[in-house]
Amino acid sequence: MAIDKYILVTGGAGYIGSHTVVELIQRGFKVVVIDSLVNSSYDAIVRAEYIVRSPIPFFKIDLHDKAALNKVFDDYAIEGVIHFAAFKAVGESAQKPLEYYENNVGGAVALLEVMSTHGVKTIVYSSSATVYGDVSRFKDHNYLPINEKCPTDPVSPYGKTKYAIENIIADLHSSDNSWRGAVLRYFNPIGAHPSGLLGEDPLGVPNNLLPYLAQVAVGRRDKLNVFGNDYDSRDGTPIRDYIHVVDLAQGHVAALEYLKTLEQGQGLYRVWNLGTGKGSTVLEIHAAFSAVVGRELPYNVVGRRAGDVLNLTADPTRANTELGWKAKLTVEDACRDLWKWTMENPYGFQVKNFKWSLFNDPGAEVNFASRLNTFTFGDFSVTIANYGATIQNIAFKGRTVVTSMDKLSLYQSDDNPAFGATVGRYANRIRNGTFSIDGVTYHTDKNWRGHTIHGGSRGFGRQFWLGPVAKSDETHGTLEFLIYDKDGSNGFPADVIATAKFTVDEKSLRLEIEARIPESSPKDVTAVNMTNHVYFNLSSGETIDGTIIKTCTDTILESDPDYLLPTGRVIQYKQKLSESVDLQPSNPIDNCFVAKVDGFKLDTRGDEMQTIVEAHHPSTGFKLTAATTDPAFQIYTGDFVDIGPYKARAGFCVEAQRYLEAINNEHWNKQVILRKGEVYGSDTIYTFS
Ligand code: NAD
Repeated sequence: MAIDKYILVTGGAGYIGSHTVVELIQRGFKVVVIDSLVNSSYDAIVRAEYIVRSPIPFFKIDLHDKAALNKVFDDYAIEGVIHFAAFKAVGESAQKPLEYYENNVGGAVALLEVMSTHGVKTIVYSSSATVYGDVSRFKDHNYLPINEKCPTDPVSPYGKTKYAIENIIADLHSSDNSWRGAVLRYFNPIGAHPSGLLGEDPLGVPNNLLPYLAQVAVGRRDKLNVFGNDYDSRDGTPIRDYIHVVDLAQGHVAALEYLKTLEQGQGLYRVWNLGTGKGSTVLEIHAAFSAVVGRELPYNVVGRRAGDVLNLTADPTRANTELGWKAKLTVEDACRDLWKWTMENPYGFQVKNFKWSLFNDPGAEVNFASRLNTFTFGDFSVTIANYGATIQNIAFKGRTVVTSMDKLSLYQSDDNPAFGATVGRYANRIRNGTFSIDGVTYHTDKNWRGHTIHGGSRGFGRQFWLGPVAKSDETHGTLEFLIYDKDGSNGFPADVIATAKFTVDEKSLRLEIEARIPESSPKDVTAVNMTNHVYFNLSSGETIDGTIIKTCTDTILESDPDYLLPTGRVIQYKQKLSESVDLQPSNPIDNCFVAKVDGFKLDTRGDEMQTIVEAHHPSTGFKLTAATTDPAFQIYTGDFVDIGPYKARAGFCVEAQRYLEAINNEHWNKQVILRKGEVYGSDTIYTFS
């Protein structure tokens, strides 16, 4: 079997690194990322995963930690490295030169040593146009636009560290000419990912023009300072070659692909400029960004800044011809994408009222797979785990109102009765794990007494979801998770991409579910029924006994008592839940109630929300109201719960969903048959008072 080969991206959580990770994966490369997160946030990786719809192995490692780095090389078959990890602030480097040499040069040496030990001799390196220094220093030669033959003379300690590393790679190649070093000298990277999900996240005052302008536009800074308008340019302000970060990222992919075309054992050391070849002045950029924002942003001309030069424009001909790469996007594109990123993420990856933590299992901190994502508004707080898009906790007025465990291993155990899980692709039962659509019969994983329950043993509630994309304003926050379930998963046909969007405010949790079959799916039809399986407990005690519950209906789908599979008949429940009953142990419930008797749709989200259950407990006075657009809901009083501290009747479920086993009933199945081009959707809200 062929072993998957990986590209290691150092500094992959950073601005340029995260965009490059996305481009690499979209070009078919497998990627592993290391980053110390000293100047970035893991949320960039979360967002990158969301964009590419697949997990990205990540390790929080500092380059100097050679033991940890060695382990990554031991565990992954790495064929090449793209090296971004470095400190990059020119001004700061003049104040802290030793830290810059230590981190940038020391870190690169450590990386190259580990690569050498593992026989990995391919490196694409992030260098900078800053290594050329001030090209106006040549009085008798015009080096503009700057090509790779221009003599180098970096001025700042930062620039010198970049140049030192270039030389180290060149020397390695001289010592062993099977090394392949691609040195990419970037001009001025700008912009953000067009999805609005990734961008530069400057911590503190931005050093660069566009991030600064963006903060002026959102009111975080008063005005832009233009450093000098007495240069010999079109409008007196300095000229730079601004390159869209996505073009830049694609330049790395092109360099890597170029190195792969070399003969086996053949090495190379080569420098390429990555720029557009077109210069823009500071005032031109100001005008372009102001146009996107829709108003003239305030600016003030101040004196020249030490170290600034008139013109740094690239001659990118070498990269254009040799790498077959050319910048395609314009300054206007970059301004538009930056503005989208800024509007949608005004504080970068920091989201108000949101924090994430990790489950309390050993080793959880190494790769962040077991994240717990929490929004808090006032005295209402909701935590959703990536595992199963699980509602791991809801706290109301200082008390926990759901069953909640602190270990991922407990959620992963066979004893877990789907606590809080977002279950799919097919919630509830499928008789004998068998169903037919369009005359084709499918067999699904029989994970429960000869039948399928909750989508099989690797249903959605038992997989890690990607994301969440977290966003908030003053009053509410959203967490959007995504799962990409492949054709054949648990025996179901067709790829399915499902999203679960949780919205939290100061008293309610809303869950919008959507599922589609992507265009690329090998099959065109499947069965979908999704819900959340949270267990509520309003009593603050060990059981739900004494909870008073009232439903919108007493109509249920008749089911056999042993397997709870439907008979096809619609009947009245034996008690009048619609007139309130006390949940006592003598009164176990596990039935599918009917909220809508007709008008079945696949996407119910446009329908009016119907209150399906009201429940309260006299001991706390807490009240829960559940409303949904779904046509049915299962009520389960948790009589078989036995996990960790939780025993029978530790919580009750109100699972808004489709009719029980609708897939095997010709009158009900249009609720659950999803075809390519169609959308499955539901909307449910739980409100506490
Ligand atoms: P960034 O700060 O966003 O990314 C650098 C990443 O490296 C960060 O995520 C940081 O946490 C990580 N890192 C730093 N030191 C580390 C260490 N010792 N171990 C592990 N991780 C470490 O910066 P960026 O703008 O994405 O720049 C990426 C690279 O491109 C840098 O090497 C920079 O010098 C170079 N570059 C940037 C620009 C620019 O204008 N942004 C221009 C030319 C070159």
